Amino acid sequence: MPSRTPPKSRRLTILGSTGSIGTNTLDVVRQNPESFSVFALVAGRNVDLLAKQILEFRPEVAVVQDAEDIARLRALLPKTGIPELLSGAAARVQVSIAPEADTVMSSIVGVAGLEATYEAVCRGKRVGLANKEVLVSGGQLVMDAVRRHGTEMIPVDSEHNGAHQCLRAGLRHEATKLILTASGGPFRTTPKELLDSVTPADALKHPTWKMGNRITIDSATLMNKGFEVIEARWLFDFGPDDIEVVVHPQSTVHAMVEYEDGTVIAQVSATDMRMPIQYALTWPDRWQAPVPKIDWTQARQWDFHAPDFDKFPLLGLAYDSLRMGGSASCILNASDEVAVEAFLEGRISFPSIARVVAQTLEKMPHREPAGVADILDVDETARRVARQVIEANGVTFAVTGPVPVTAK
Ligand code: NDP
Repeated sequence: MPSRTPPKSRRLTILGSTGSIGTNTLDVVRQNPESFSVFALVAGRNVDLLAKQILEFRPEVAVVQDAEDIARLRALLPKTGIPELLSGAAARVQVSIAPEADTVMSSIVGVAGLEATYEAVCRGKRVGLANKEVLVSGGQLVMDAVRRHGTEMIPVDSEHNGAHQCLRAGLRHEATKLILTASGGPFRTTPKELLDSVTPADALKHPTWKMGNRITIDSATLMNKGFEVIEARWLFDFGPDDIEVVVHPQSTVHAMVEYEDGTVIAQVSATDMRMPIQYALTWPDRWQAPVPKIDWTQARQWDFHAPDFDKFPLLGLAYDSLRMGGSASCILNASDEVAVEAFLEGRISFPSIARVVAQTLEKMPHREPAGVADILDVDETARRVARQVIEANGVTFAVTGPVPVTAK
């Protein structure tokens, strides 16, 4: 057997270190201390966890969202030997473009991660991309920069990571279709008429993945799958008609690529985000990963069926926004985030999330955003419009009482 090339060492800036992807990324670092080290940790408000991460991983810089949290963080750290402590958007950019870091893990949730990721792309850093909003809101801008700077942007989201692997089996022009799988979420078998009465607690019970709140609700509405269709369009340059979603409740096949001779290559692995995270750091190499292997001695069944666009209208709206182009998918994302927040606070019903998004898309003019500032401006306006839509529809969008039929 040929000997392995020595692993390339990487020094990381982790945007969103205190989140689900961030903590999994740190676990991958923990497992490979000779190859990976941390230059900067970037968090939002969870200073307790950030302090623990600083003590374990010894970064040179740590960044929080708000300046007032720096004192709270400092109080949790020893008097000496602590990293530089910074806050805010400019600091997020600073640690993402710093020459000390060659790799940026983009795993902040929301557009708060866009600018730092874009700037890292423009400096040619290796970018592990988990943050969906980067491509959903700024796909054209970011991918133009990727091409201009020859940046290695490796998707971390399991479906896109799977597609990235499937596309290694042939030439890009030989690939005719991309198939993304969806677990179907907690309401896959719930009749449509019962969705009016589902609670945030019901929607937060994802059948296969443990993730942050927003992405979990987005998985329940299939908005998340819609975002993934948009991301896939930008990452792999397939048109909307060549990206298909198929419901696969076992979530073991993550993505498939159909080639022009009819061959379909599938990527199959256990549901553990540490594998795609590690792949994003080690590509083009593969290393042993601390994730469960599939036991092929056990009988198993894999199901595949078409998604229900009528029950989950946000998936269709994602395709629509992709066809509209310009700022439409940025509006889709911003209005969805506002609607998800309102749902989690019990102010609107589950099906009203889609109503808020559809009405916001109708009300906002589309334009071609010229840069990050422009995208952030569209995002902010869409949030304002979405809040107005929620207020204007008060009772119509509100949670209705329990429906006297039992869900399966
Ligand atoms: P979490 O909610 O678990 O974590 C979000 C992270 O972002 C936290 O570290 C949070 O900090 C930080 N953050 C939020 N707002 C800000 C801000 N304004 N400034 C700085 N940091 C901020 O989310 P996930 O890890 O689940 O997801 C992260 C991204 O990856 C999302 O875009 C998601 O869609 C995507 N993704 C996630 C997957 C998963 O399995 N979890 C799979 C595929 C994609 P704090 O907690 O300190 O406030």
